[in-house]
Amino acid sequence: MKNCIFCRIIAGEIPCTKVYEDELVLAFMDIAPINPGHILVIPKEHHTSVASIPENVGGRIFHVGSRAGVAMKRALHADGFNLHLSDGTCAGQVVMHAHLHVVPRSLEDGFHWNWRQLKYASDSERNAIAAQISEKIKLGELSE
Ligand code: AMP
Ligand code: ZN
Repeated sequence: MKNCIFCRIIAGEIPCTKVYEDELVLAFMDIAPINPGHILVIPKEHHTSVASIPENVGGRIFHVGSRAGVAMKRALHADGFNLHLSDGTCAGQVVMHAHLHVVPRSLEDGFHWNWRQLKYASDSERNAIAAQISEKIKLGELSE
């Protein structure tokens, strides 16, 4: 995709600080990290949504992300890491080339997700919503 910043990084038109690369994915340093060492793992093919990424590529992204998280613990003495992916503008996705954030974390880093905890009105409300989602899950279907 000509106007996609991450496609341009993959094409070598825009520089990046590479951490890992193979035939399917590229991992590089985020320019505005939550913590030093924050990286992005992206598919080499352009996909706006994670939902259109084939299973083998998605699996590789997750595998590289989790191994990079372990590397952050070993190399940076992180206590743990977050894997984070925003899909869609409403979810906070700014760059429209699907990407997995891997963020090294320490107990004292002072960063907190703004994570709220609502309550369901009843068990039946929760069960009905679960059933609606469950019915629509179609493995193997790739869609934006
Ligand atoms: P998101 O909000 O999930 O779409 O995240 C986009 C991420 O891409 C942000 O964390 C940015 O700091 C990062 N980013 C944008 N442009 C670049 C770039 N040229 N090189 C590295 N990271 C970038
Ligand atoms: Zn792209």
